[in-house]
Amino acid sequence: MPISLSRLVDKIKPSFTLQMTARAAALRAKGIDVINFGVGEPDFNTPFHIIKAGQKAIEDGYTKYTPGSGMLELKEAIQTKVKNVTGTLYDTNQIIVSNGGKQSLSVACQALFEEGDKVIIFSPYWVSFPEFVRLSGAEPLLVDTLPSEQFEPDFDDLNKKIDPSIKGVIINSPSNPTGGVWSDQAIIKMLEISKANNWIVISDETYEELVYDREFTAIDSLNSIGAEVLTIRSMSKTYAMTGWRIGYTIADKVIVKAMSKIQGQTTSCPNAIGQKASVAALLGNPQPVLDMKNKFQERRQVMFDALNALDGVTCDMPGGAFYMFPDFSSYLNKETKEGKILRDTFDLSDYILDTASVVTVAGDGFGAKGYLRLSFATSGKIIKAGIKRIEESLKELK
Ligand code: PLP
Repeated sequence: MPISLSRLVDKIKPSFTLQMTARAAALRAKGIDVINFGVGEPDFNTPFHIIKAGQKAIEDGYTKYTPGSGMLELKEAIQTKVKNVTGTLYDTNQIIVSNGGKQSLSVACQALFEEGDKVIIFSPYWVSFPEFVRLSGAEPLLVDTLPSEQFEPDFDDLNKKIDPSIKGVIINSPSNPTGGVWSDQAIIKMLEISKANNWIVISDETYEELVYDREFTAIDSLNSIGAEVLTIRSMSKTYAMTGWRIGYTIADKVIVKAMSKIQGQTTSCPNAIGQKASVAALLGNPQPVLDMKNKFQERRQVMFDALNALDGVTCDMPGGAFYMFPDFSSYLNKETKEGKILRDTFDLSDYILDTASVVTVAGDGFGAKGYLRLSFATSGKIIKAGIKRIEESLKELK
């Protein structure tokens, strides 16, 4: 008998960024020297004092369930960290810890949205945003951005699309995939529009510490108007802790209670060892994070220079994260030696992987035609070598 799956499975798309990682791993396993600009995580190890705290947690017996919304000790560490960043002291019942920012976002959408609702997402968007919204039963509503202005919202497009079924908006600055950092003015404008229309603003601040040209401003510090805001942060990128799976949400206590109810019936609680390690990360020596940030900043320059030196490619300097989002549209509709026409950036990215053994991620997957996403979470030497290989492949196109 054929297996019958739920309609939900058809509604959501698989994570194609994870698929690219899997393809790179498969090529490496065949002995091919692959350069991977597809990665969405720091290449650095978790700082040693955090690893030590994780080891100690195991030895001390933190190997059991914790409270569903996270250990009090970690919530207090989050309280301290957030107070230092925003000046606001949140109550611990306004904080819920999850297994990564991904779970935080998914559970938040399930707690807030349902069928019939629309949620604004800015395009180019991180691949998972539309899927979190669809998993909740609601529909994503895509709004354009301005590439030359760090992909800030195109407010004209937004104003045209406002309708009564919109319940919320997801913003992400610094952004994956563009690395764009929105100005305080753009965020304040978004808060004003959201307040006027009664939308909740979900601010994904996963890349909070990775802002290069100015200080990071948390949305909370800009919300003097009092819009309803839910902030999500993660240990993954800032502390090089992607595998420890800890993220957290700060929101009104009613929302946190609703999220705890859903989370308690799905994963019980966040990973106990990861929580203890996160306490050390948030309260311990900040120097390793600053060192990583400085390295990323150096590599950003190397990749920026190399990409802009490519014929027909333009790339603005991203203000944050570890992604570049260059415009390769002049290579669309060109022909390979085998006679294949590169119709979109999926074709272009496949062509670069097949001919140069370099992994890039197609902008079409993020809702951006003509762009590729390249991560600079790798050494300057590898960045130069990878872009050189891309250049050679592009030269072969007619
Ligand atoms: N938000 C954005 C924009 C991301 O890029 C990611 C990871 O790639 C996440 C959230 C989730 O990260 P994690 O689940 O590892 O905390």
